[in-house]
Amino acid sequence: MALSSHFLDEDKALACVHCGLCLGSCPTYLETGNENDSPRGRVYLMRSIENGRLSLNGSHSPVSHMDRCLGCRACETACPSGVAYGQLLEATRDHIERHARRPWYQRLLRRWLIEKIFPFPTRFRWAALPAMAVKRMDIASLLPRFLSEAMELLPDKLSRVRLPALAPSHTQPARGRVGLLTGCVMPVLFGKTHQSTIQLIQALGFDVVIPSQQRCCGALHAHSGKLAEARELAQHNLQVFEQADCDVVLANAAGCGSTLKEYDHLLSQDPVVWERASQFVAKVRDFSEWMEQQGASLRERFASAHAQGWSLPEPFNGLTTFHDACHLAHAQGITMPPRQWVQAVAGPHYVELNEADICCGSAGSYNLTEPEMAARLQLRKTSHIRQSKASLVITTNPGCILQIQSGLKKEGLSSVRVMHLADYLEMALRHLPSEIARR
Ligand code: SF4
Ligand code: SF4
Repeated sequence: MALSSHFLDEDKALACVHCGLCLGSCPTYLETGNENDSPRGRVYLMRSIENGRLSLNGSHSPVSHMDRCLGCRACETACPSGVAYGQLLEATRDHIERHARRPWYQRLLRRWLIEKIFPFPTRFRWAALPAMAVKRMDIASLLPRFLSEAMELLPDKLSRVRLPALAPSHTQPARGRVGLLTGCVMPVLFGKTHQSTIQLIQALGFDVVIPSQQRCCGALHAHSGKLAEARELAQHNLQVFEQADCDVVLANAAGCGSTLKEYDHLLSQDPVVWERASQFVAKVRDFSEWMEQQGASLRERFASAHAQGWSLPEPFNGLTTFHDACHLAHAQGITMPPRQWVQAVAGPHYVELNEADICCGSAGSYNLTEPEMAARLQLRKTSHIRQSKASLVITTNPGCILQIQSGLKKEGLSSVRVMHLADYLEMALRHLPSEIARR
């Protein structure tokens, strides 16, 4: 029997006027051409679930089309009616997880790996150790596909970087106090990127606070239909960063930043908590956004160096391009600041990437739950990189780095490097002529 329980904000769903202007920006629609895999079709499916016209279980279940959605929110950027697609999707997925029956391996993947392992850095590190051993022995292909795909994504080694609780500004008095969200996957795989981020903030004259009590931002839960767990994590982090007393809360992973910026929506049930969450949200910045606001002096140093004929040493001096992480470009509406930073360093070596803001197929844990579509989008992305002739790809999200790196390897393009913007800028600052770097 069809299920009806009111989970959807009907006014928000009715904002969709079915104009279809979003279709060309939707990666899954571009790949399948199926209306049910488009934003317009999915909003219709959500309303059909809400109204009880469609059952979540059985042969006409819409769950596969909802699962196939990347949550990339490119449709929001394209939509002239302001449809809050991301919020509608989160509510629908929460409903699906409560009522739909899933095969055992999907339950194992979603309820064990994605909800119980990834969001906890210590558990993730322990779980990654045997995975690294399997990868080294080159026997991943013997495992079920969702596990072998996960192995493909892992880098060659785990991070051993330990972060301090406080990193003081390089100049005194400090210009302000920046709190850093470290996230769950980043400390295990991208500790170096946190180090680069901290060094750049210190160099610009700010203290960096890294509260040890912070936990996962809640993105993995919110995007996979576990809103109660996401709210619990949001409440916890809210309290931790309030106690840390920062002027700004910085995220260097686009997916985490977009979730932090939506804590007010996530915690809107209680007016008192909502008020606190709104104050918190006003302080949240993506790394590239904050650098744009505070890093003018650094940008000028790169410009002076270029005026003197400076460029990066090999292997960083080839054509360089930029991939937009969906949760930066579409969920946070930030496209120019990271690009301008890459252009500032690469100078004449910068090339624009075709379809730069089309999802690479990473989308949080999507490359594990929907490996087939993730692989199609990965190939689409690496084909554009090949055409660009870039030897360096810069982006702002760890999931994108892993997904693009693994795609390049599959396509025989291992020599093309993929770097986080913070690592790129920190490396570039180290290579500036000393008389310019000191200014
Ligand atoms: S562009 Fe917006 S209003 Fe038009 S079909 Fe897409 S979601 Fe609906
Ligand atoms: S979130 Fe992305 S994949 Fe999902 S409907 Fe919108 S554009 Fe398509």
